[in-house]
Amino acid sequence: MTQTHTVFNQASELVDYDMYLSDPVLNDLIHRHGAAWAAAQLSAYGRFAGSTEGIELARQANDNPPVLHTHDRFGNRIDEVKFHPAYHRLMQAAIDAGIHSMPWATPRPGAHVARAALMYMAFQNEAGHCCPISMTYSVIPALRRQPDLAAQWEKLICSTVYDGSFRPAAAKSGLTVGMGMTEKQGGSDVRANTTRAVPAPTLAAAGTAPGIKPYLLTGHKWFTSAPMSDAFLILAQTEKGVTCFFVPRWRPDGSLNTLRIQRLKDKMGNKSNASSELEFEEALGYIVGDEGRGVATIIEMVNHTRLDCMIGAAALMRQATRQAAHHASGRAAFGKLLIDQPLMASVLADLSLESEAAIRMTMRVAEAYDKSVATADGASNNNSAEAQFKRIASAVSKYWICKRAPMHVAEALECLGGNGYVESGPMPRLFRESPLLGIWEGSGNVICLDVLRAVAKEPETLDAFMAEVEKACGVNRSFDAYVRKLKRYVADLKVKATTADIALSREQGARRLVEQLALALQASLMLQQAHKDVANAFVSSRLGNEGGFAFGSLPSSVKPKTIKTLVDRSR
Ligand SMILES: Cc1cc2nc3c(=O)[nH]c(=O)nc-3n(C[C@H](O)[C@H](O)[C@H](O)COP(=O)(O)OP(=O)(O)OC[C@H]3O[C@@H](n4cnc5c(N)ncnc54)[C@H](O)[C@@H]3O)c2cc1C
Repeated sequence: MTQTHTVFNQASELVDYDMYLSDPVLNDLIHRHGAAWAAAQLSAYGRFAGSTEGIELARQANDNPPVLHTHDRFGNRIDEVKFHPAYHRLMQAAIDAGIHSMPWATPRPGAHVARAALMYMAFQNEAGHCCPISMTYSVIPALRRQPDLAAQWEKLICSTVYDGSFRPAAAKSGLTVGMGMTEKQGGSDVRANTTRAVPAPTLAAAGTAPGIKPYLLTGHKWFTSAPMSDAFLILAQTEKGVTCFFVPRWRPDGSLNTLRIQRLKDKMGNKSNASSELEFEEALGYIVGDEGRGVATIIEMVNHTRLDCMIGAAALMRQATRQAAHHASGRAAFGKLLIDQPLMASVLADLSLESEAAIRMTMRVAEAYDKSVATADGASNNNSAEAQFKRIASAVSKYWICKRAPMHVAEALECLGGNGYVESGPMPRLFRESPLLGIWEGSGNVICLDVLRAVAKEPETLDAFMAEVEKACGVNRSFDAYVRKLKRYVADLKVKATTADIALSREQGARRLVEQLALALQASLMLQQAHKDVANAFVSSRLGNEGGFAFGSLPSSVKPKTIKTLVDRSR
């Protein structure tokens, strides 16, 4: 056979690295935020997430998406979704590591931070399975609103045994939990939910306790991810309004609960995860929290999944930067490795800068989750300064990091040239995942309106936020000027809107406000924590008039030495 050519100047696969130890920023944050005790565990999971095996499992789980079986071959309704074994292996690794429960199962200072670092690596490896892991982690604070239910279910939800079998909970050694809010006529506006629930006092709840009140739910959900979860938090209307219910897949008598999976969504990404349309035909559920206060109850869960959206978006940026730098280190053009071409170095440095700011912001918010915990069982102390910071910083950070991710990942993809656009490589999966985190748990506008609401109803949350921002004042003049201007803007906002025009202009300007708050917090954290030149590069490129719009247009004040520092840490 004639040899047509020799393959050369192609980069290699990025495999067999320790995702934790090879990440200097993550290491710094773990030590800074009181989670150094978890280093060995983080490294163990980091080796799995970056291993040839872990990366291959991620590929297989996405190449073989879940399949819905509504009926068995005899025509009985079964509503079962079957997943590829690779998905189960990823779930098992995440649950073994406690990513779904660590802060609740073994509460200690730094637990949310350690768990956030694990989730950061899981998302870099494979985002789809992170959805059920996130919902299982997030359900506990909401479930604790109904102590009798929590007493019955929490132990198995927090178990570090993954049990993917489809059986009643009592027969299982570990459970996962999902969440259903979105209906056809409204997702953001859950007050428009039409699913209704009526009390069913004659139905015995298993091991009946006074706080376990059975209801029957009838209606639908338009998006419910991870439909093979063992139970869900579901919003439904009662006479008193939107109420939260805990709906198990199986009834206490061992029969299948009447949750019907209509079909799975054909999604643009997030392929390994099943997202379904559900119908409830008098499905059994138990009330969680106060009747008519369903939004206030489920928001406990949503706040934690919002943290995971930040973690996920930051993780996509980290992995995209890593892939871009790896490619540029193994590919030459016009006589030099791409990584040594000054303009490519500038692009990689800028991607690295964005990625670093995203994870620093995420981990500061995760720290606030740790520090606002008041009791040994993990319950929140909502009055502390950290809790007030958390309230507004969660929304601001979720908005901004998720907004930046798709642009960032697209630019990183371009660093790989044509190879970046090809399905056999890692970039298309990262890119298709990147807009999703912005949609989940409050899409952009909804989050910005939530920030306005927080400012109007709890202005002390904004004070706590600005106090964190101001910690970095005095070291960078551009930053100080930015903060002075922002403080004037914020002071105006705290004055009650006296006319409809003022209210309108505040709503129209909400994105601008949240963006400025986000940049101020990121810059503050960079100045407090990062290498001085790197922090100054962030301020000059993001807060002043010197930077450009596309990644890679760093101002000339950013010196080659700083660019090299950033590129070195991006690999
Ligand atoms: C892959 C995937 C999985 C999902 N899994 C789940 C799940 O497990 N459980 C679940 O409950 N949901 C799930 N969702 C649904 C998701 O949470 C909703 O799509 C999201 O909350 C937005 O709701 P919506 O689609 O009804 O859009 P809408 O609420 O109609 O919003 C559309 C747009 O209008 C904007 N908007 C809304 N209100 C305002 C306003 N007042 N002012 C200005 N702009 C506004 C929004 O920001 C958005 O950009 C999933 C979605 C996807 C894509």
